[in-house]
Amino acid sequence: MGIRYDWHETEIRAVYFTPLLELIYQAASVHRQYHDPKQIQVCKLVSIKTGGCPEDCSYCAQSSRYQTEVKPQALLDKETVVNIAQQAKKSGISRVCMGAAWREVRDNSQFDEVLDMVKEVTALGLEVCCTLGMLTQTQAKRLEEAGLYAYNHNLDTSQDYYSTIITTRTYSDRLNTIQNVRQTNVTVCSGGILGLGESVEDRISMLHTLATLRPHPESVPINILSQVKGTPLENQPDVPIWDVVRAIATARIVMPTSDVRLSAGRARLSQVEQALCFLAGANSIFSSDDGHMLTVTTPCPGYDADQEMLNLLGLEMRPPFVRQEKVTEEVVFG
Ligand code: SF4
Repeated sequence: MGIRYDWHETEIRAVYFTPLLELIYQAASVHRQYHDPKQIQVCKLVSIKTGGCPEDCSYCAQSSRYQTEVKPQALLDKETVVNIAQQAKKSGISRVCMGAAWREVRDNSQFDEVLDMVKEVTALGLEVCCTLGMLTQTQAKRLEEAGLYAYNHNLDTSQDYYSTIITTRTYSDRLNTIQNVRQTNVTVCSGGILGLGESVEDRISMLHTLATLRPHPESVPINILSQVKGTPLENQPDVPIWDVVRAIATARIVMPTSDVRLSAGRARLSQVEQALCFLAGANSIFSSDDGHMLTVTTPCPGYDADQEMLNLLGLEMRPPFVRQEKVTEEVVFG
């Protein structure tokens, strides 16, 4: 099967509801066609500015509207960020994602500092991704000039369900920022969160939106909700592992060249469950030396534990910038 951008939602629904083991088998086959199945990209998240966000994302520990255990922290200095990146590189991490709890990027001295961080971490030979909120085309261009490799802007859920989860911005705002990034050579990272109370139809709809972007996001994180005390979603039930596997396998089949990242929520999966996710086409994880993802509310396995798991499964860490070579080989159909 080639790369398609004309997926109809009914086709994606049919993929999603394929009998489970058959779905995993098909996804694994597609995965082997487009990726080296031995390789997993390991990424490190760094919260460069934490908490105090004016947005009201119902799942988020960093929104100023909710009382959570996250303590606000001003923008980190460049040296601190570069040190974290150096340590990560020593542990085999090939991508560093820098997140700031902002509604949008402002053209101020803080953005200049972030641009400096991007330059220095890129100079270490690492892929740098930023997630800084909404972005204009000019700001995307400045990030590109600083050497940014990827920009993360998740769709989170379906267009229909979006306003139930977030009221301070719209789905179109999200798509506009993705469009602005697409005016540059910075790659796009965009995915969603399972467990927000969305229906299966919402998951299918979100995958449909992503799979009909042309080109597909180079990176598609699939997050599992970490229920954060103090947020409106603190009492959401856990997402069954089979739902996670179905979402990953469907993403793999409909966006065959994208990196599908098993992201937040991985800490509560067993090694066997993670292995199933890799078989279904996930080819990236986040690992951390401080035990958490962006904030303390979302646990993350450590470098050593992850290295052990990859060894056990016969997998290896992918070096940086490997994907770029593959993209140039893409054959486009439809
Ligand atoms: S997800 Fe991002 S934009 Fe939303 S409240 Fe959290 S930090 Fe702010």
